[in-house]
Amino acid sequence: YSIIDRDQMQGLQNIRAFLKIRTSYDVLPLSFRLIVLDTELLIRKSLAILIQNNIVSAPLWDSTNSTFAGLLTSTDFINVIQYYCQFPDRLHDIDQFRLGGLREIEKAIGAQPIETISVHPMKPLYEACIEMLKTRARRIPLVDVDDETGREMVVSVITQYRILKFIAVNNEHNTVMLKKSVREIGLGTYTNLQTAHMSDSVLDVIHVMVEHNISAVPVVDASNRVLNVFEAVDVIPCIKGGVYDDLQSSIGEALSKRAEDFPGIYTCGEDDRLDSIFDTVRKSRVHRLIVIDDDSRLRGMISLSDILKYVLLFGEENDAITPDTLSSISGQ
Ligand code: ADP
Repeated sequence: YSIIDRDQMQGLQNIRAFLKIRTSYDVLPLSFRLIVLDTELLIRKSLAILIQNNIVSAPLWDSTNSTFAGLLTSTDFINVIQYYCQFPDRLHDIDQFRLGGLREIEKAIGAQPIETISVHPMKPLYEACIEMLKTRARRIPLVDVDDETGREMVVSVITQYRILKFIAVNNEHNTVMLKKSVREIGLGTYTNLQTAHMSDSVLDVIHVMVEHNISAVPVVDASNRVLNVFEAVDVIPCIKGGVYDDLQSSIGEALSKRAEDFPGIYTCGEDDRLDSIFDTVRKSRVHRLIVIDDDSRLRGMISLSDILKYVLLFGEENDAITPDTLSSISGQ
């Protein structure tokens, strides 16, 4: 048990203590916009709105009952695509689907129902993180109840990235204590990695993402050198015209449709330490880190959930994500 180990544990514990005294509300900037979509909206139109506003997800609102109706994410569009694959002759119907009909689509293809979980903005941030890990949600809506009307109010949505950035910005004195390397702590996934080639079709990659329940697939060349990453959100521009034919086009073509302000892909080496990963999170909009060797060959993938899980649960009595351990940790 070295000093490095001791510091690492201390740093993690300090961060956990910090997350327990901060709320989700603290993560929100002073002013922000929130785009909420009505469940009556056509799916086709919702795509155009997301693209126009340069966002990849939005909370849904059921105005007939004045209730929050879940979060629209790229997973929903992937579900629509799968539906199209199973029922190609229903293309005309698909064009007429409304956001409220996403449930029917899920049922028809036997997908997991979209998450309707939410957290109260004044609850400890730690609880929101646990909730995210438990449900594998990448973002979580903050829903409050209006005192006067008793109605639900969607306040905002927080993402894993925003939480990690909040940790990074406010805990520099703690993140510098995290001196163990990615390799030493086994951060990320290194076996059974799913990859794609530039010439693969968008549809091929979507199937890989669905089958393996992952939100990104590194694009490699013949010698396994990393060229790019295809992310679940990259499917949005591919179907915006309702032209499902675009799904047959190659990943290379699809990636060229990325918005101009695409933040780029981030890599690290297995000897990089967690403190330097937090430096990257502090400075840039990271969605995940691709672990490469000195020749840019793919070694592994570190998702934001891998980092969050390590930061919250490593060394806890039982660090497996099961509903039981999680409820005992969050004290519910
Ligand atoms: P998140 O849940 O943060 O969005 P991902 O869906 O990308 O992250 O990752 C979920 C899990 O799958 C993580 O543990 C991650 O390490 C692993 N993973 C991510 N991408 C791949 C891939 N291409 N092949 C195999 N495993 C992956």
